[in-house]
Amino acid sequence: MDYKAAFRDALDKVRAEGRYRVFADLKRHRGEFPRATWTQADGSQSEVVVWCSNDYLGQGQNPVVLDAMHQAIEEAGAGSGGTRNISGTTRYHVELERELADLHGKDAALLFTSGYVSNEASLSTLYKILPGLIIFSDELNHNSMISGIRAGGREQRRVFRHNDLEHLESLLAAAPADAPKLIAFESVYSMDGDIADMKGTVALAKKYGAMTYLDEVHAVGMYGPRGAGVAERDGVMDQIDIIEGTLGKAFGVMGGYIAADPVIVDAIRSYADGFIFTTSLPPALAAGAVASIRWLKEHNEVRVAHQARAAALKARLAQAGLPVMPSVSHIVPVLVGDPVHCKMISDILLTDYGIYVQPINYPTVPRGTERLRFTPSPAHDDRMMDDLADALERLWAHCNIKRVGGYAA
Ligand code: PLP
Repeated sequence: MDYKAAFRDALDKVRAEGRYRVFADLKRHRGEFPRATWTQADGSQSEVVVWCSNDYLGQGQNPVVLDAMHQAIEEAGAGSGGTRNISGTTRYHVELERELADLHGKDAALLFTSGYVSNEASLSTLYKILPGLIIFSDELNHNSMISGIRAGGREQRRVFRHNDLEHLESLLAAAPADAPKLIAFESVYSMDGDIADMKGTVALAKKYGAMTYLDEVHAVGMYGPRGAGVAERDGVMDQIDIIEGTLGKAFGVMGGYIAADPVIVDAIRSYADGFIFTTSLPPALAAGAVASIRWLKEHNEVRVAHQARAAALKARLAQAGLPVMPSVSHIVPVLVGDPVHCKMISDILLTDYGIYVQPINYPTVPRGTERLRFTPSPAHDDRMMDDLADALERLWAHCNIKRVGGYAA
């Protein structure tokens, strides 16, 4: 077999569909968030404003976080040196798990190397602990949740229409009454910026004797009085059985976790391959995360400013007649509806305007809903927003004249 030809064919297919991913080579400027230097393939460099970072609050540059990381390196060195079981559990990991449990009002938490791993490892492990478990999964759940849920096989999962509690209830009612059940959902859906009905979901879980598993990856640090997420904001945090989050987005560092009752955490700790068989996070990351979580617990004004900036951008873009998709969160998606166009607009923004926003194409979002997804932070000022709106207005007019690829926004 011509193995290389098979790889080339696979790439050609992705290219033909306009969804070949090109990564922007960026170097962020410490202390000047959201500014960065972009290096092109030929080595030339230019300054850009980043509009699509998931470091939603700029915590990756907060001096409090950086100081904690520097100090941990000074004290403990670089890597952790092992899996959690074999010398890789350090003071920093233990302290971080306590901090996370406290954040979510639970008695225990468990760290993973990323949010992806925490979802995949925890959800797939629940099937081992609860034989016959049926997981009810929102159709727009993140790939990491789907990957964990698929481990149980087709018979063990039911997919409900996005945020459709009637559909969820019909599936719950149709399942065997004595089967263990778990509802897996997200709070903020990061591609559309909509938010699940927390209270309604919890009520259904109670009615049908199901556990709840909530991914708060795009909400931790940003919602609720102490930044524990939407469940905290909506007053149902104590009624969610397992809360999952990341340290890599609003907390500005890296890593993932679950917070839950100690017996749940202990069982997942004991059975989850993705937790057991991997080197634990470097101490400096854990130390940075602790500092970031603590700081954000005390600084609600950052959350208020963040929401205000997101509202300002939505209003500014809507005023310019741009197709801002409905979003009740800090995410500002603008519909393009065509993969080639989406990439083209993103490329021109970067090269001609110094504005970096990654095109969001299939399979991240359904075909036909390709979009630009803006994530304004408290540091994106009015001037940056005006520059962005002006550039988009010009590009939209330009694209309409050309009418390439059926574009009609
Ligand atoms: N869950 C959701 C909803 C996500 O969007 C992501 C990543 O974008 C993850 C989990 C994975 O988190 P991490 O980036 O920490 O691996």
